Amino acid sequence: MNQVALITGASRGIGRGIALELAKLGFDLVVNYAGNEDAARATAKDCVATGTAVGKTIRTEICQADISLTADRSRLIDFTRSTYRRLDLLVNNAGVAPNVRADILEAGEESFDRLMNINVKGPYFLTQLAAKWMIEQTTSSRITHHASPRKIITISSISAYTASTNRGDYCIAKAALSMLTPLFASRLAEHGINVYEIRPGVIATDMTGPVKEKYDKLIADGLTPIQRWGTPEDIGRAVAAIAQDLLPFSTGEVLNVDGGFHLRRL
Ligand code: NAP
Repeated sequence: MNQVALITGASRGIGRGIALELAKLGFDLVVNYAGNEDAARATAKDCVATGTAVGKTIRTEICQADISLTADRSRLIDFTRSTYRRLDLLVNNAGVAPNVRADILEAGEESFDRLMNINVKGPYFLTQLAAKWMIEQTTSSRITHHASPRKIITISSISAYTASTNRGDYCIAKAALSMLTPLFASRLAEHGINVYEIRPGVIATDMTGPVKEKYDKLIADGLTPIQRWGTPEDIGRAVAAIAQDLLPFSTGEVLNVDGGFHLRRL
């Protein structure tokens, strides 16, 4: 029986990159999305083909749910439960940038509330639901700490510790999101569930499309020691490392996948 992963925001960008890498490992997938059904279907189809290409037979299902909404989060977990009856890996990936970048002396509450609801409240309470179900599964299958741990991975950002004064709401949301991992790692270790944070740097997706030229120049000028844009595959491969149990004695860990952006240099 295949392991099962639920990936939020997997229709496009980083989430899609994660889905494709998990498909190669033979995971059955729930591809969550907010509104872009065509993109979600394309990801689901491409994952099956990618799995097949490496000899894995997998099942993929799409599920629309806005993770900022209580009823949608419940429906997403219920869908996963009724479809697959198990959950081995939750990837909290879905997130949004502000619609308009505004100086922190001018930025409004509407954007702040939107980002806190989608980028913090959504993953926090979705993790709560997933964790309770994972505990149930662990107890019922009498899995011990020597068995493959279930896992929760949250995609935060270098914005968790980097001040960008034209998107304070995003930075504050990602800083808050970074507390999710130590909290749930501490709480869930006794149940054999490992919890990780992946902190992407500048990744080429729709989210960074509007600021492409700005980042092209910053990268060319040496923003990151590894002088290139990151890709969704870079993040997908980091998730795959965790998903295939290469870090079994680590929990609460942060993986920087940022071309070395976080290094202090002189
Ligand atoms: P993206 O290309 O804009 O894709 C966003 C994904 O999230 C889409 O699948 C979208 O679904 C989904 N989504 C948006 N709002 C949602 C909601 N309320 N409920 C459920 N799904 C929702 O973004 P990305 O660049 O891949 O970013 C993915 C994650 O990585 C985000 O958390 C982001 O903050 C983080 N990150 C990105 C970068 C970067 O440089 N790109 C850097 C650091 C961290 P639809 O297709 O249906 O709209």
